[in-house]
Amino acid sequence: MQTIAERLKTAQDSIDAATTAVNRPTNSVKLLAVSKTKPVSDIKLAYEYGQRLFGENYIQEGVEKVTELAELSDIEWHMIGPIQSNKTKDVANHFDWVQSVDRLKIARRLNDQRPTHKAPLNICIQVNVEAEASKSGVALNELDALVAEVESLPNLTLRGLMAIPAPDVSDAQQRQTLSTLKQTFDRLAVNRSQFDTLSVGMSNDMQLAIAHGSTMVRIGTAIFGARTKKQVNE
Ligand SMILES: *Cc1c(COP(=O)(O)O)cnc(C)c1O
Repeated sequence: MQTIAERLKTAQDSIDAATTAVNRPTNSVKLLAVSKTKPVSDIKLAYEYGQRLFGENYIQEGVEKVTELAELSDIEWHMIGPIQSNKTKDVANHFDWVQSVDRLKIARRLNDQRPTHKAPLNICIQVNVEAEASKSGVALNELDALVAEVESLPNLTLRGLMAIPAPDVSDAQQRQTLSTLKQTFDRLAVNRSQFDTLSVGMSNDMQLAIAHGSTMVRIGTAIFGARTKKQVNE
């Protein structure tokens, strides 16, 4: 049985190897440790090893952890799960980043509810490149309008794009999706100095995502072990 520290090292080594393999600078890809459903004791172990970026999916659970670990003030907390509009206040109050913004209503509420004594909330817009009706994420043909609107909100800082490409597709399809995403990211990054984050890639598609310009991979199971199915539906 490996420890969390050992698994973190393995994950970091894989990121470094994948980054070097495509001649990208070391440390150009960040590791987001996805700690959903895992106890704060696990987060503390990862923190002691040096991990600082953590991702949570469920708002109630995330808020409890952020509150409980408030003394570890250099943790950067990322919300990566779906957000209902009646939960935006908790997110705006407790998180540093929200990667799962895919509609204006949510962005507006996060902006309005962000405490003014805090730094602006960092935002990634979640895009749905494959345009599957069932998935969250804004369609590509609606992205530019949402970008313009998010940019106009003073308590939000638009940092980039997030995507969860469909896992069960052919290699060619996966590459196609990732290159569309990268092209879109590069196009939007022009003249936007803070637009620096392309959050794509999980355990199974990390190498390919890094080859296609990912700047942040999101890894849960490979660090914290398997999750039991979450029962609560927020
Ligand atoms: C759960 C989750 C992850 C991590 O998934 P693992 O399979 O545990 O590595 C990454 N991104 C999002 C959006 C998730 O919900």
